[in-house]
Amino acid sequence: MSDDQELETLAKQIVVCTKCELQHSRKKAVPGEGPAHAEIMFIGEGPGFHENEQGRPFVGASGKFLDQLLEQAGVTRADVWITNVVKCRPPGNRDPLPDEIEICTSNYLRHQIRLVNPSIIVTLGRFSMGLFFKGAKITQIHGQMRKVDEHFVIAMYHPAAALHQMALKPTIMADFARLPELLSEARAALGKSQGKEQKKEEDKPKQMNLF
Ligand code: URA
Repeated sequence: MSDDQELETLAKQIVVCTKCELQHSRKKAVPGEGPAHAEIMFIGEGPGFHENEQGRPFVGASGKFLDQLLEQAGVTRADVWITNVVKCRPPGNRDPLPDEIEICTSNYLRHQIRLVNPSIIVTLGRFSMGLFFKGAKITQIHGQMRKVDEHFVIAMYHPAAALHQMALKPTIMADFARLPELLSEARAALGKSQGKEQKKEEDKPKQMNLF
């Protein structure tokens, strides 16, 4: 099965998933979207109201701001993978619980990362940051790229944070503006040539040690 097909199979499993309580609060699960071997993968927290209605990630107010941030960084949304730590909306927009995060990441996110194999993972918000940088503080590490296992990971403020706290807007914009430069750095370090079809070390099973 190709990586595309495996991602599709995962998405089909996600929309009917009954592995945790979030199945009861969802209208539509949000598996995530993007081209199979995108160079950049964004990982948010979980679907909000609009995402739950539409089954697509970042389509509400934070999504509109994310689109602007991508555009000003010269990155096209169609070229990146966008997903979340949990694929179903927590009731009343509460935070996802540790067991929900564990179930969802071990069954889905972890496989999505392996299949997409991005050069850079950008975490948006504290829950996705926590998967890679345990105990880190976003105020201290935002915008910095670090190697975690075989991926370069950059923790960024969640776009919603900048919408609620206008003072954060220039910081998040500055962090996003550095994405092209950081992507070149990551490509060089990973020995990947520029371009979308950076095929991975083809389909070798990979051990991920992130969670
Ligand atoms: N916030 C998130 O973290 N993810 C979404 O998909 C939308 C809003």
